[in-house]
Amino acid sequence: MLLGARVRRILWQLRRLAWGAWATCITAGAAVLVGRGWFPDLSGRSAEAAPVVVACLLGLLVIAKLVARLRAPAAAGSRPIGWQSGASRSEEWRTAKSDLELGAALVVAIYVTLAMSGGLRSPIYPLIFALTAFLITFHRLVVALPLVALTFGMELLLFHAERRIPHARELYASHAAFIGFFALVHLVFLHGEVMRQRRESRLALGRELRAMREEARDFRLISSSLSADPKTRSRAADEERLAIGAVETIHLSLFYTLELLKKSLQLHTCVLLWLDESGERLRIKELVTDADCITEVPLPADAGALGTVVKNRLLVNLKDPKRGHLPYYSAPPKLGEIGSFLGVPVMEDGHLRGVLCADRAGEHPFTEQDEGLLVGAAAQMLRALQSERVFAAVERAKYEHERFFAALAQLNRALGTDQVCQTTFEATREICEYDFAAVTLFDPQTKKHTVVSATGEVPRGLPGANVDSRGLASMVVKNKHFLPAGGEVRDKESHVYGKKVRLAGMESLLVLPLICADSAIGSFAVAARRPRAFDKNKREMLGVIANHVAVSLANAQMYGRMETMATTDGLTGLVNHRTFQERIVDMLARAERSQGKQALLLTDIDHFKKVNDTYGHPTGDVVLRGVAQVVRDCVRKVDLAARYGGEEFGIVLEGTDLKGAKMLAERIRAEVEKQVFQPQNAGQEPFSVTISLGIAVYPDDGKDKQALIANADQALYHAKHNGRNRAIAHVEIGPARLKAVK
Ligand code: GH3
Ligand code: MG
Ligand code: MG
Repeated sequence: MLLGARVRRILWQLRRLAWGAWATCITAGAAVLVGRGWFPDLSGRSAEAAPVVVACLLGLLVIAKLVARLRAPAAAGSRPIGWQSGASRSEEWRTAKSDLELGAALVVAIYVTLAMSGGLRSPIYPLIFALTAFLITFHRLVVALPLVALTFGMELLLFHAERRIPHARELYASHAAFIGFFALVHLVFLHGEVMRQRRESRLALGRELRAMREEARDFRLISSSLSADPKTRSRAADEERLAIGAVETIHLSLFYTLELLKKSLQLHTCVLLWLDESGERLRIKELVTDADCITEVPLPADAGALGTVVKNRLLVNLKDPKRGHLPYYSAPPKLGEIGSFLGVPVMEDGHLRGVLCADRAGEHPFTEQDEGLLVGAAAQMLRALQSERVFAAVERAKYEHERFFAALAQLNRALGTDQVCQTTFEATREICEYDFAAVTLFDPQTKKHTVVSATGEVPRGLPGANVDSRGLASMVVKNKHFLPAGGEVRDKESHVYGKKVRLAGMESLLVLPLICADSAIGSFAVAARRPRAFDKNKREMLGVIANHVAVSLANAQMYGRMETMATTDGLTGLVNHRTFQERIVDMLARAERSQGKQALLLTDIDHFKKVNDTYGHPTGDVVLRGVAQVVRDCVRKVDLAARYGGEEFGIVLEGTDLKGAKMLAERIRAEVEKQVFQPQNAGQEPFSVTISLGIAVYPDDGKDKQALIANADQALYHAKHNGRNRAIAHVEIGPARLKAVK
């Protein structure tokens, strides 16, 4: 069964191939025959049967392909250059193939006709140039160019068949040149035309968008102070989308109201005219009319009966209006066509927004009831507009609040001081555009303000600047209230940090106190070049942000303190044992990667028990702190110095070999020996202590932490047992090589 199905499928595919190939075979065969001069010149001679049959067959093929092509679905139709569709690639390829087949059959058929009607000298030769133009104009380049190439090829074949006729070469050359010329001219013109069309449609789209934007402004849907700054464009674009949606809704609502009025009052025209921002012109906003001569240009606000409505802000009811009374008609209505006119002012909060006009034909003046209806309709129109405005405002507020809460969530996730500051800057950007921002922290003990982070146009000298007590940053910490009032730089003489650090060119400024648990721990300043960047709404949001920043910074400081406590030894301030164990692993891994060296020094104070016994424990602590300070002073930042145990210290020297380690060990030993300690108990003489040191170097003395520490400890043991107050390296241990380094 399965085998049978497979055989059937193969047969079906072969049939499809054969069916698909017959057209190509006939076309190619006919082309070859043209080259061989098989088609006779029929002008003046009687025809042989076979060539005529082949020519007819070719003609039939062209017709069949053309019909198939025309009946194909629209997606497969001819497309202009550069056309792009959602159609799949295979579908496009199938269309291109069928176009190629049809085009090739057409080209060959025309050459067969030429061959049979006089060859290179055929009177219908210009048909080829028309064909070239057609191929280029109506096909995509992938189809058109191979077909033009085929035309050149056919030209060559025809020339080959008739190479012996006089001037054959010249004829061929001129034909080829013309074909090339026609192809090029059409290509250039068509491309030019496509580009022009695209440019025009882009411009038209831009015009429509501009008109929409203007309407949105007319309806007060978007604020005209929206910045054109590219940084805020996405925000403006969002507002615009919102406004465009609202404009459409308003138009729909206005249109239905006018339509209803027209039907119920049997009006000729019902039109809503809107006053522009200058208050001098009235423009048609929406219209329902039977007339075909309505003006498209803005009308002067003082013209005709409209002018009276605008001027008096009162309803106007006219019987038999004169020609000039109704300026919204581009041509004056025929005599008696308009029998009455009613104009109603559209008022909002005491301001005139527009005029609602109605007129009708015949002898039916507007009644008081009609007037009431029109006044009610005007109020209804205004309500539609206002509700869209409210909707836009709610959407805007929603948008701002979403961003605001996203900003707060970001802040709550930040950990260290640096991270909090960076997040603060990012979160602020979510709320408003600014050109400078900085955070300062206040130390109540030293009464000093420190600029911890700044971004944007940071003035020279700000990082590390001494914050002046008369600067706004100090004042907001003192008063716990933001400055300057209104968020505007009013007093050009005032400064934020110090007289020498100027925020040049900033029109808007806001310095907020960072208040945590009722005390101000620092300040957050934002500044912008553009004026009125921090309105009341923004100031409120920035105030909330500042409160969160304060809490986050206090947390970060606490987090920092806790981290220090967890990693540092309280007595000496050096790294504690646990951290030493962790960091030595990292340092050894680094050395392994870089194939470098790492030296470990273990030190122990000599006869320390005696120090404790003689001078007391507190003095012992002083000694411990003193030795730790020597160690700290002798090592580099990249090295690791830790309190390893009671009066033992561990030091790892980054990238240091045995020679370097011995030099440093000796320096530490000598420095400690030089220290003089004052006993806490009165009457006791100052004294000094010595230390012993053991050295082991990675990888020579151990390839892992345990081995290295054990060998350094062994070296220390030898130092103790060979007189103390000395440094011994692990490689120096041994009965023959044991030697003290002093
Ligand atoms: P050696 O030369 O062999 O090292 O003799 P030593 O007396 O120093 O002996 P050892 O190193 O064992 O002495 C450790 C002493 O260090 C014991 C302890 O009383 C003292 N010690 C440990 N931690 C502290 C500390 O925090 N403060 C003070 N004052 N003494 C400490
Ligand atoms: Mg000890
Ligand atoms: Mg000791």
